[in-house]
Amino acid sequence: MIKTAIKTKSYAAPGANDQLKPFEIQRREPGPHDVLIDIKFCGVCHSDVHQVKDEWGGARFPMVPGHEIAGIVQTVGEQVTRFKPGDRVGVGCMVDSCKECKSCQEGEEQYCEKRNVLTYNDVELDGKTPTFGGYSERITVNERFVVHIPGNLPLEKAAPLLCAGITTYSPLAHWNAGPAKSVAVVGLGGLGHMAVKIASAMGANVTVISRSLSKKADAERMGAKDYLATSDLSAVEKARGKFDLIINTVSSAADMNTYLDMLKRDGAMVLVGAPGENLPVNPLSLIPKRRSLAGSTIGGMRETQEMLDFCGKHNIAADIEIIPIEKINKAYERLLKSDVRYRFVIDIASLK
Ligand code: NAP
Ligand code: ZN
Repeated sequence: MIKTAIKTKSYAAPGANDQLKPFEIQRREPGPHDVLIDIKFCGVCHSDVHQVKDEWGGARFPMVPGHEIAGIVQTVGEQVTRFKPGDRVGVGCMVDSCKECKSCQEGEEQYCEKRNVLTYNDVELDGKTPTFGGYSERITVNERFVVHIPGNLPLEKAAPLLCAGITTYSPLAHWNAGPAKSVAVVGLGGLGHMAVKIASAMGANVTVISRSLSKKADAERMGAKDYLATSDLSAVEKARGKFDLIINTVSSAADMNTYLDMLKRDGAMVLVGAPGENLPVNPLSLIPKRRSLAGSTIGGMRETQEMLDFCGKHNIAADIEIIPIEKINKAYERLLKSDVRYRFVIDIASLK
């Protein structure tokens, strides 16, 4: 068991579907390669809700969610080279990995071939010590899993980049979104709104696919050139064969074939949305146009820093609603109704 020492206030779900409430955890004293971070803000990702509800299975309770962490370095271990006290930093979905396999060596720690350690709802590499996330006052993290937040981005608006930002940047970069590419983003939520801003800054021609027209003006403000409401069946029909790439952020079961039919020949739809259930795919949505259906998870640490630098350069950050931590249960209810423009961010000062 890793020695734990620093008492830390947090909010935890005691069990599946329980309301979150105050809880005390321990953070370890920084080891030689660790950074101790004072958390200032933490974004609320739909993955937090899936996990508190144990929709992906195997959830560990009590659970302190939160993997969109922005804060200030308090102290560093003696061998830390990349950070110093006072630095503005972020932590995303991972806090460790084997660091030796091919994926880790290539900077793709999210695909670690042994096991990466998730920021919460997981155990450290010792196989025993539970990890707790960012709905807490501070966190101790190996420096490899900490990134710098550009000085021009406010911490509260940068926090969602640590998951929503990298989860959309990584597939957009991998599938070469850019000028002359027609990119659609399905679902204008936390991930979706970051995808629109990032893909637009990459130079792609972006269309938002949402269920209704209610988010059209916002989508255009974020850089979308076109907007499609799936409630309008004639618009859906007209969009057949239109896109090179679709980033699908939908968080609950939806008909994948409708979106696949919108791909051009050789187009790809990348699932980043992760409803915890099977989604039927008709082979004839793929075969006639040699389409691909793919998935992608977050991004490696090198790419996470690259994404933050890109967002700094293009002045991109999240559209947020700041909440005190006491409002977290209400925020989960609202998130399930897509009633947020476009990310809740917890002001961690409200914990103190
Ligand atoms: P969110 O803010 O709730 O956004 C999801 C959006 O999906 C909603 O705003 C809504 O958009 C659309 N949607 C929801 N239910 C739908 C349905 N039945 N049919 C069609 N559209 C629907 O959630 P988020 O935080 O962006 O997360 C989205 C998903 O990505 C979650 O499943 C989350 O767990 C997953 N995720 C994956 C990764 C990864 O590494 N792959 C990382 C983070 C999150 P409209 O209102 O515009 O229709
Ligand atoms: Zn997330």
